[in-house]
Amino acid sequence: MRDFRSERVCKIPPSGIRKFFDIAQEMEDVISLGVGEPDYDTPWNVREAAIRSIEQGQTAYTSNSGLIELRQEIKKYLSDSYGISYDPKKEIVVTTGASEALDISIRAVVDSGDEVLVADPSYIAYTSNVMLAGGVPVLVPCLEKDEFKLTPDSLMEKITKKSKILLCNFPNNPTGGVMTKEDYKGIADIVTDHDLLLISDEIYSELTYEGEKASAASVDDLWERTITINGFSKAYSMTGWRVGYICAPETICSAVLKIHQYVMLSAPTTAQYAAVEALRNGADACREMVSEYKIRRNLFVNGLNRAGLKTHMPNGAFYAFPNIIEYGISDEEFAERLLKEHHVAVVPGSVFGPAGVGHLRCSYAVSREDLMTAVGRIEQFVSDL
Ligand code: PMP
Repeated sequence: MRDFRSERVCKIPPSGIRKFFDIAQEMEDVISLGVGEPDYDTPWNVREAAIRSIEQGQTAYTSNSGLIELRQEIKKYLSDSYGISYDPKKEIVVTTGASEALDISIRAVVDSGDEVLVADPSYIAYTSNVMLAGGVPVLVPCLEKDEFKLTPDSLMEKITKKSKILLCNFPNNPTGGVMTKEDYKGIADIVTDHDLLLISDEIYSELTYEGEKASAASVDDLWERTITINGFSKAYSMTGWRVGYICAPETICSAVLKIHQYVMLSAPTTAQYAAVEALRNGADACREMVSEYKIRRNLFVNGLNRAGLKTHMPNGAFYAFPNIIEYGISDEEFAERLLKEHHVAVVPGSVFGPAGVGHLRCSYAVSREDLMTAVGRIEQFVSDL
């Protein structure tokens, strides 16, 4: 019998994070800093809105683009928070998480052989999404010395005649790096001069700790060539609800919608009602969670630095990205030994791309108590090295 698997699927690597979860699950007394999701329950008013929608029998498909009241709330949120304007009827599509938003955006714009510039290190799905669409990922390093931002120089170095798209995510998973509006302005001319499309995954935008939160499309020349992706998983602790969205100029948005209507029909209806409530009445809960993440960030990052792990103070998301190069072992080995010998699970930075080599991704979306215990164990481990 022949191998029925497609060449594209055979080429994509398995997720490097899985291996560590599998080991951690077999062990007792493990503190996991490995998972990329909030540790809060979804705010109660949001859950109630979902229950109410079920009680009222709102159980059918919604319009392909999503509930119009949700798209109107998304429009209002983006306009109030970032000063960007999208037409809810033509320029917004509600998706099954930012995950679907990323996949269908990429498939709507990538042709075989197109080069997609990907800010490196990156969320693990990006290079696979690009390859499954037939594109070629070209990694653009975002280095610690630049506060893990995307700089004009590193971008310029990777642009070729085949470059078509720039895919980036700030605040960033895994580094916690953030781009300000000024930073986006710094790359806007390059994007425009080289006629690129920007796909900007802003799923962590609410989790910005100092200074103003920024959206790439708020830089004037970028709006018409940007797909803005966002969602509810991180800001409102709604990972299991599976709801996100895409905003883009009409031509691009209608191309994305074509794929969405064939693969998904519509995002989950109950989750869309919950999302409406999150945007209407969820700001306080979001603010409370963000202020707690900030306290944890300060505790944890200062703790890591005291323990001997050089760690840049991240300005967004809920990840710290300590540098372990001075210890002379690979990030893989460091993470594996830390887990097996001291029962702390973190993710090796190399899983997220070559620019992540020599780092660890540690999520601080866990209790303060667990964070401090983890710091103690890490300190013990590095003092033994
Ligand atoms: N983008 C980034 C950068 C992420 O970290 C994640 C989730 N870890 C996603 C997208 C997917 O989010 P969602 O739950 O909305 O699919």
